[in-house]
Amino acid sequence: MMTDQRRAWLRGAYLDRITEVAQHYAAAHTHFADPEWEAYIAGEFGYLSELSAEDQAYLRDQAGLEAFRRIVAALSDARETAFGKLRDDNGDVIQSDAAFRLDLGWLSLLQHAADRVRTYPEAWRARIDGAKEKFGCLVVHIVCDYAARGCRSEVERLREEVRLRSLGMCEICGESGRLRLSGYAKTVCDKHEPIMGEFRKDDGKWADPWTWNDDAGRIEQVLEKGRALISEYPAESVELLRDMDPVRRDRRSLSWIAIASSSRRRSARPRSVAASTTIHGRFPAVSRSC
Ligand SMILES: [Zn+2]
Repeated sequence: MMTDQRRAWLRGAYLDRITEVAQHYAAAHTHFADPEWEAYIAGEFGYLSELSAEDQAYLRDQAGLEAFRRIVAALSDARETAFGKLRDDNGDVIQSDAAFRLDLGWLSLLQHAADRVRTYPEAWRARIDGAKEKFGCLVVHIVCDYAARGCRSEVERLREEVRLRSLGMCEICGESGRLRLSGYAKTVCDKHEPIMGEFRKDDGKWADPWTWNDDAGRIEQVLEKGRALISEYPAESVELLRDMDPVRRDRRSLSWIAIASSSRRRSARPRSVAASTTIHGRFPAVSRSC
């Protein structure tokens, strides 16, 4: 069993190598996917014959953390720039403080929504107030005067249209995709499927997550299970996520947990346990009104 002292020493002594490996991976990837990472890192640090296998595994884990941090930082910059531009280009129909919590593949849907809102009568005072990914679909927030004639039905129709279209479009790249379920729900294309980790048995059986609403009891059960499992996480992993505040709502951070704890869990289907745990624990209760 490795001591904290040993970990700290390893990290300090081999930091340049950890960084180099991480940098290389991060430069070539926009998202962190466990299977790709595992393939990339397998056997890395094996040439450090002065170190034990456990030491080498620790360095690989550290490199994974560093690569993940770098990818997240780059992604966060890219999002900030893109959504900033969306807000600037559509300042007449998007609030200046609108928050967007989603990947960039759905940008065109947001632009479509902005273009539509622009055609509304001024009396509706309709503005896009933000948007987020929720259970694999795009939910757009629109503020408007619902009392104005025709406003409510049109705005609700637009929100539903955008939501349904998002269920056929990869949230990452905008190509055709479908809703996929692993430890969490996300709509992605075949190419980006690997970021999801291990799929649930019912993956592919749900076209629209809104239908889950009728099964609140089952979801609460899953959440309970997730919370129980999460409490078993090593403090290190939990701390790590806490540091990454902008990422905490980002489901992909969860695939990191699998790495952080994989040295202990590698043998028995680590990914499914790790991923489903964290993600379910973090899902809010399902709700149709959002
Ligand atoms: Zn894609």
